[in-house]
Amino acid sequence: MAATVLVVEDEPAIQELIAYNLKQAGHQPMRADNAEQAMRLVQDALPDLVLLDWMLPGLSGIEFARRLRSDRRTRGVPIIMLTARADEQDKLTGLDTGADDYITKPFSPRELNARVKAVLRRRAPQMTDDLVQTGALALDPATHRVTAEGAPIHLGPTEFRLLHFLMTHPERVHSRTQLLDQVWGDHVFVEERTVDVHIRRLRKALEDSRTDRLIQTVRGAGYRFSAD
Ligand code: CA
Repeated sequence: MAATVLVVEDEPAIQELIAYNLKQAGHQPMRADNAEQAMRLVQDALPDLVLLDWMLPGLSGIEFARRLRSDRRTRGVPIIMLTARADEQDKLTGLDTGADDYITKPFSPRELNARVKAVLRRRAPQMTDDLVQTGALALDPATHRVTAEGAPIHLGPTEFRLLHFLMTHPERVHSRTQLLDQVWGDHVFVEERTVDVHIRRLRKALEDSRTDRLIQTVRGAGYRFSAD
């Protein structure tokens, strides 16, 4: 599944190279030359991952990472820091501010892709093509197929993404705002009740296989996917 990756890098050649490699790997790059521009992009739509250069003109990469981590809405976005410094102390500082991983320049496209994949797998499993299975229910992102006890379930694209997110983040309560950010990728232009509409459709599609009971409503809080 394609992930939206925000590349914050002031050196045009490196920015270009990273964006090219992300596209080759099937992702959708967004680009910013500095942290201020990146902040505006994040306000419009939450990316699935941020590749963040340490040394930026104006607000530094570290400071930008701190700001992302201090805001409830952007707190969960995975960050990979890019830096020319191989210094161990710098690496610790980077990880301290909440970066998930760290890449030292120069890096190969292969290393970049491997790290992006590893961080997405860990932090945003709904962005990977790994098969997910809970009890009778199985979802295969590679073929876009959902089955219950082996029988196909037909879902619209939004219901598919919603189920994928819920299955990869089980046993946790997700508020409507969180679901909008994670599944719709943008909390600004969609109303919260849209979530309820799609949850209803999803449950309806799962009803015959009785797997709809896996999606629980938590009053006043949101929804939870639970195998119990
Ligand atoms: Ca730089």
